[in-house]
Amino acid sequence: MATETFESTSPATGEVLGTFPKSDAADVERAVETARAAFETWRLVPAPRRGEILYRFAQILEREKAALTDLMTHEMGKVKAEAGGDVQEAIDMTYYMAGEGRRLWGQTTPSELPDKFNMSVRVPIGVVGAITPWNFPIAIPSWKLAPALICGNTVVLKPAEDTPLLADRFVELFDEAGLPAGVVNIVHGYGDTAGEALVRHPDVPVITFTGSRETGVAVTKAAADRLKHVHLELGGKNAIIVLDDADLDLAVEGIVWSAFGTSGQRCTAASRVIAHETIYDALQSRLVARAESMRLGPGWEDDTDVGPVINRAAIEKIHSYTKIGQDEGARLLTGGEIATEGDLDKGFFYRPTIFGDVEAGMRIAQEEIFGPTTALIKVGDFDEAIRVANGIRFGLSSSIFTRDVNKAFRAMRDLQTGITYINAGTTGAEVHLPFGGTKDTGNGHREAGQTALDVFTEWKSIYVDYSGRLQRAQIDTAS
Ligand code: NAD
Repeated sequence: MATETFESTSPATGEVLGTFPKSDAADVERAVETARAAFETWRLVPAPRRGEILYRFAQILEREKAALTDLMTHEMGKVKAEAGGDVQEAIDMTYYMAGEGRRLWGQTTPSELPDKFNMSVRVPIGVVGAITPWNFPIAIPSWKLAPALICGNTVVLKPAEDTPLLADRFVELFDEAGLPAGVVNIVHGYGDTAGEALVRHPDVPVITFTGSRETGVAVTKAAADRLKHVHLELGGKNAIIVLDDADLDLAVEGIVWSAFGTSGQRCTAASRVIAHETIYDALQSRLVARAESMRLGPGWEDDTDVGPVINRAAIEKIHSYTKIGQDEGARLLTGGEIATEGDLDKGFFYRPTIFGDVEAGMRIAQEEIFGPTTALIKVGDFDEAIRVANGIRFGLSSSIFTRDVNKAFRAMRDLQTGITYINAGTTGAEVHLPFGGTKDTGNGHREAGQTALDVFTEWKSIYVDYSGRLQRAQIDTAS
């Protein structure tokens, strides 16, 4: 057992919320061994029965929603409404995947030979290693665990080191739902120890990872020697396009919600606003006024608009990008400061920050800052807007505000992202559609919806010959 420990602290106050083991390779070994043993029975539990356990788990999550929401405002920092949304997403995902217990459809097809039956079925793979970030501390574990479990896999979860308490609470609730012991296991601690040991373990054939691009590359390399299935959900640099015919009031609402919600710490946050030159000035002044009216504070207080960012390293990184933007020649319109008034100095609070006169190639318009900072980029027409929106390495979410249906459809076709919104911000995914991105945001897989099942199953094609004689495909079919 790991003897070293680490603390979880509130980003709003610095209060210590709990102490957790810094799991090491030996802990990972034990967790994987337990999961491997449990797999032999769990894979044989009929999928509808597995679904019933998930239904009960979803009901328990509903009952615990208020408590988990409150804990999230303390441990992760997001404001109450968003924390409730995070838990709700887990509830929705669990109900949705529970229903898959009575679907998990394959195909039946005609055979090219007489008296022969063909079908394909999904089969579980084994022990899934799930590695998750802190920014959706209940939702993201549910996106991975619910589909992994319904398909008949067992799991070792390594949650982010910033939100271990929420992860423990989440996993504990599976017991009450009746999940057999050993099907879900948790290890705590840091990426370079617990995380890497999980990725390298020979008995973990599937790694599902959400986090930064850099870590995603490291995970891929570490998993390569054993040719593991690796599912990656990585960063974003998402843009909202506002055309000259847009409903500006609506666009402002969408931008404020997408840029400053969760203090900009969403993979789908709008960190770029691409505005048509005719509405640029009007949009800029409205956005600045809105940003300056936002109240910073702890997430659990009802009138807080913007909570803290996750930790010291995050606020230092965010602040360093303010300097980078200024050095690059962008105009700091508002924010750009660590907030310290009153009790805010006990936590990590950063003022909503807007840069104007941003060139599309500047670092603040290209790199993921993961904080409440957004960059306004002026464009002359629709085609330039699409070019700028696509001119980055990431491809997670995009949005366009326009009343022109032709331009909306061209944007749906041409924006190179996994998710596109029309007349809404860049956030707000629903659990029954694929979630994920193109380019450096991932490696071609998708979370959520039916597509998630592809991460957690292998296809098996089965041919049943009831002719009583040897029939050779491609040979005996020739007439
Ligand atoms: P991170 O990459 O630092 O950490 C994510 C997880 O990986 C943590 O649990 C960490 O301990 C672990 N880890 C770190 N190094 C590891 C290693 N070498 N081997 C194995 N595991 C390792 O990311 P973060 O700061 O927690 O999260 C923020 C990032 O996540 C942002 O880039 C954001 O865009 C991205 N994100 C993406 C999505 C998506 O669905 N596309 C959703 C949420 C967050």
